Amino acid sequence: MEESTNSGFLILFHQVMFIGAIASLAVAIIIYVVHNLRVSALKDFKQKYDYIRRNEIKHYKYAFISIAVGVAFIINTYGRGSLSFDAVWFFVRIFIALAGGTLVGYIGSLVLQYYYPTRLDKKLKKWRYMSRINPETGNKMRLLREDEEDVHLDEGMQAEEEVFSVDYDVWIDEDSGYTKVEKYPGHLEALQCNNCGFFTMKIVREEIIEPPTETSEGELVKHYECQYCGSIRATQFHIAKEEDYDHYKPGKVEFRKNTMVNLVKVDIHSSTGGKKSYDFQNVEQAQKFLEEFDFEKTQ
Ligand SMILES: [Zn+2]
Repeated sequence: MEESTNSGFLILFHQVMFIGAIASLAVAIIIYVVHNLRVSALKDFKQKYDYIRRNEIKHYKYAFISIAVGVAFIINTYGRGSLSFDAVWFFVRIFIALAGGTLVGYIGSLVLQYYYPTRLDKKLKKWRYMSRINPETGNKMRLLREDEEDVHLDEGMQAEEEVFSVDYDVWIDEDSGYTKVEKYPGHLEALQCNNCGFFTMKIVREEIIEPPTETSEGELVKHYECQYCGSIRATQFHIAKEEDYDHYKPGKVEFRKNTMVNLVKVDIHSSTGGKKSYDFQNVEQAQKFLEEFDFEKTQ
């Protein structure tokens, strides 16, 4: 009696696992297909760009999770031909299934974190720089160079470009004069100004009011200034106690190094003889900018 109940349970268990595996893999395929259908349904290149940038990694992550769950289900159907129930064997197999699913999910997350961003970047560049079409006339439009585009941007936009928080692309139909301005994330972060609304708030100075000691937290004030309208803001931060710092030595050294620096000037000379000059308020920003510096984009 017990024997047949166990076999009944095993048969049902294997059926559920089998259906679960197929369903999970189907869900992964559906996520992938629906994502790509939605991208191709968007006719505007800028909209495609935004949709891909916002969703692609997220959706592919869900697809990988579904595959991982599917793999766990498949492993749980291993050896289903032998129908005798052995509790140890049964639970070992569940454990291996969980480990296998986790491994597949982990590999997926590594792919999305380290390999995929480069591909995504190429894809995004393709849509960003593909010739825009004037919707009224069907004419091909031209992307203006940085030095040509300023007349089409208002002063706040120019200020945002100057602090690298936002990058504007201006497309022009040279026959009709029709322009299209597109907004892209810039190379550097800046806060939004409460006064003018542009992303032009930058740290101009950091001040340690009270250095941290071994027993008490310190106080740090960051002074921000809007690079467009000039309004200022100061925000107070806690600095961890000295003893906590010992666990984060590199951060401590970097922080102290930066407070000594007032201005970092970066000159970039291109192979064609052009020169660009940039000012930064601290080493971190300059480094970050250089890491993301793109020669093609500066012309
Ligand atoms: Zn402002």
